[in-house]
Amino acid sequence: MSEKGTISINTENIFPIIKKFLYSDHEIFLRELVSNAVDATQKLKRLSSMGEIKEDLEGQDLKIEVSFDKKKKTITVSDKGIGMTADEIKKYINDIAFSGATDFLEKYKDEDAKEQIIGHFGLGFYSSFMVAEKVEIITKSYQEDSKAAKWECDGSTEFEISDAEKEERGTEIILHVAKDSEEFLDEFRLKGILDKYCKFLPVEIKFGTRNETVPDGKDDEGKEKTKSIEVDNIVNNPTPLWTKTPKDLKDEDYLNFYKELYPFSEEPLFWIHLNVDYPFNLTGVLYFPKIKNDFEVQKNKIQLYSRQVFITDEVKDVVPEFLMLLHGVIDSPDIPLNVSRSFLQADGNVKKINAHITKKVADKLGQLFKKDRGSFEEKWDDISIFVKYGMISEEKFYDKAKDFALLKNTDEKAFTLDEYKGQVEKTQTDKDKNLVYLYATDTNKQDSFIQSAKNKSYDVLVMDGAIDSHFINHMEQKLENTNMKRVDADTVDKLIDKDEKLESALTSEEEEKVKEIFTSAINNPAMNVQLESMSPDELPVTITQAEFMRRMKDMAATGGGMPMMGTMPDQHNVVINANHAVVAKILKSRGQDRKAALAKQAFDLALLSQNMLEGQDLTNFIRRSVDLAAE
Ligand code: ADP
Repeated sequence: MSEKGTISINTENIFPIIKKFLYSDHEIFLRELVSNAVDATQKLKRLSSMGEIKEDLEGQDLKIEVSFDKKKKTITVSDKGIGMTADEIKKYINDIAFSGATDFLEKYKDEDAKEQIIGHFGLGFYSSFMVAEKVEIITKSYQEDSKAAKWECDGSTEFEISDAEKEERGTEIILHVAKDSEEFLDEFRLKGILDKYCKFLPVEIKFGTRNETVPDGKDDEGKEKTKSIEVDNIVNNPTPLWTKTPKDLKDEDYLNFYKELYPFSEEPLFWIHLNVDYPFNLTGVLYFPKIKNDFEVQKNKIQLYSRQVFITDEVKDVVPEFLMLLHGVIDSPDIPLNVSRSFLQADGNVKKINAHITKKVADKLGQLFKKDRGSFEEKWDDISIFVKYGMISEEKFYDKAKDFALLKNTDEKAFTLDEYKGQVEKTQTDKDKNLVYLYATDTNKQDSFIQSAKNKSYDVLVMDGAIDSHFINHMEQKLENTNMKRVDADTVDKLIDKDEKLESALTSEEEEKVKEIFTSAINNPAMNVQLESMSPDELPVTITQAEFMRRMKDMAATGGGMPMMGTMPDQHNVVINANHAVVAKILKSRGQDRKAALAKQAFDLALLSQNMLEGQDLTNFIRRSVDLAAE
């Protein structure tokens, strides 16, 4: 029997269009064919377990086989699944599969959505025409007494169905590779595609060159001898870790799986096994990697699967943004992969998945904190970036994380938010009863300020992480009556502005005089000189930068806030300690030059303590110091 027909179609020349549409993504044809083979195999298993098939599948080889023949220029995907009868081919391949392909074109014809759909649209069987000039299906149904059938199509709208010779149940898809796609007739290329998309498919896949004739020297008559190579390598892991029950798994299994996913990475800190079946279906394992400062390298490491078929590693819309640095696998048949990005963002399931992952991560962190605070504290530096980012960007996460998020002070002691409040409540309140949290962003540069604060028994937090400037802003919004001030934003007495003030040792005329001497010695309009009555133990001169101004500039520098702030010159305050002996000495010393030299010296020392003295100013300072020492 042989029958010719025309595929009913309302778009002319659909194949060239398909080809053009998915130009950069031709390789997915293999994913589509192998997934179909997996489906066919699993359907067979299901029928068997329901008792709908007489024969016993136990002990049968149901492996899928992917092979290629360089000489014949074919790629073959064969399975031992349910197969199709001739009628089913007509129904499923000519009508249904084709309508899928036509739908695809209808949907995206007018849209400039090419980028978005690539890799997200399962084009199914017809994607084989992206690389083949002719496709053959040879198949035999599992149903009793069914005859094998063969379907052929050369990419036009015409096809031919005929009887075929095939002993075994199952389907063989033979692609006759087109000239412009011969790159796919290559072991490494095909293996690479299988590794990318089919690595964790649930049915074993063999891959190799079959019936390929390769030169094996010359025979006596000078003709090339040939030999065949067998297909025998299993290239996938059909039962990846995330499909197993957590209680059957040991730490070692998780670590091994991590190595399988990311062969050259350091061990992860810990992981979360996701397992949801209501109201949506989702499994997966998310790992917390050790984050150094190379965020970009760490990004886009989560792989998204749908029933163990790899879909993409761009999980931007499925995983909350603050968790983008996590590694691992998410598998959900409920994520609509056949649609464009913008649709994905609006999808209700995706939102729920997002919320679920957020909750799971928060719960896991909370558990770790409760179970073993010591080890949680050790890991904190690596995970703080997630936690802080999460607290800033997701209200629900903040509500959970506020109980385990840690603040560390300059003595490396860690506190929860509540603990820290308790710690400083009694000492660090200003005259308006506001709490003042002091923080340092660079413990080396800000050391003199840290020491001043500590001398007064104040505590200083270390906030030197990549997103700490944003975290600080957020904490201020969240914590009631609490101000965050960088230790060098002002003198310590002003930072924690108590009611009681020290008396000045100078008269107001003397203070004016000192101000004049310093202003003219410094001679820089960006340095705003002012006097303050501090303890004689404090430094004679301190250089500060107002918290507000600095934050605005920081924000501008990291691309937020008002960009114009970035171009404004740095304004600093030069605070002179009216009660310091050096100041008294400057006033008393004879001659304008002498006064100016001493003032400049005191100012330069302040700059030096903050790493702000450089170039000619530094050289002059050293000369002056030598001169003063020689006096
Ligand atoms: P989809 O897989 O999304 O249904 P396809 O275009 O890939 O769309 O395939 C259309 C139909 O053809 C499938 O639903 C299935 O019924 C049938 N089919 C495809 N490949 C096979 C196969 N290897 N074995 C049995 N049936 C198949």
